[in-house]
Amino acid sequence: MGRLGSWIEPFPEGIYVKPADAWVDPMQPKAKALVTHGHADHARGGHEAVWATPETLAIMGVRYGEQNEQPVAYGETVRVGEVDVSFVPAGHVLGSAQIVLDYQGERVVVSGDYKRRPDPTCEPFVVTPCDIFITEATFGLPVFRHPDTGAEIDRLLARLNAEPERCVLVGAYALGKAQRVIKEMRLRGHDAPIYIHGAQERLCNLYQELGVDLGELRLATGVPKDELRGKVVVCPPGALNDRWSRRLPDPLTAMASGWMRIRQRARQRNVEFPLIMSDHADWDELTTTIKEVAPKEVWITHGREDALQHWCMTNQIKARALHLVGREDEDD
Ligand SMILES: [Zn+2]
Ligand SMILES: [Zn+2]
Repeated sequence: MGRLGSWIEPFPEGIYVKPADAWVDPMQPKAKALVTHGHADHARGGHEAVWATPETLAIMGVRYGEQNEQPVAYGETVRVGEVDVSFVPAGHVLGSAQIVLDYQGERVVVSGDYKRRPDPTCEPFVVTPCDIFITEATFGLPVFRHPDTGAEIDRLLARLNAEPERCVLVGAYALGKAQRVIKEMRLRGHDAPIYIHGAQERLCNLYQELGVDLGELRLATGVPKDELRGKVVVCPPGALNDRWSRRLPDPLTAMASGWMRIRQRARQRNVEFPLIMSDHADWDELTTTIKEVAPKEVWITHGREDALQHWCMTNQIKARALHLVGREDEDD
């Protein structure tokens, strides 16, 4: 065989695995798609066949309806064309996986999106040594260091208790972040009903069906104002400042995102309480992961490629930016 990884071809729309005639996270409909996780910037509808974890397939089912499903559980290996394919937890959202590709003695791991800190709604990231590690770099700058999640949640619950006439309105993406915010609050003793926006109902229900206990959830729509005082309401980021939220009792507007580290982003979104909480690796997690995986080459799909590429080079690891398009649309 020639150059390392010559059987893997990156395109702006996704990663093509030649000897499998399959694509990883393709943005356009394909005959064979291997999907890392359910976020819309990775999982799309319309493929002829989809290999993914059972949880990711269930999430895609909620969003795209019926499809030709090829479930692969964590740790299981299947043959696609001439390639052995397995799925390993990525710690990003429920069902999220790194896709491990073995072909003619070379191993390539496509991380998808991932994080290293604990998340009570999904399986933790598993380090898988390989020849080529294909990583994201959403927060690939040394300034990005996410704070402790529990401390962030404690800060928010303290505000809720200090101002019982108001409600706390948390903007959180419908897949992963919303459920993680709710679960983290449960783990920190908040057991009152939590109110959710209608757009988050189906995925919250699915998480509960798949064994993630979120406690008592109620739909916020149509609930009398007074019932919501001193309560937590979770909504999609887009609903934070729209007509929907105007019916709430003097909401303290919070937004759960890694980008809340940047004050300007919080201001742009009119966020009173930035809740710094990310489902992506921060700078330390990215560099620690690369050290632990110890690949011969690092390929970077999207994000702040330059700084991570430079870090790799100074650590004697060959690195290459792939410039995939359309990523980081849905989640952060
Ligand atoms: Zn994602
Ligand atoms: Zn993504």
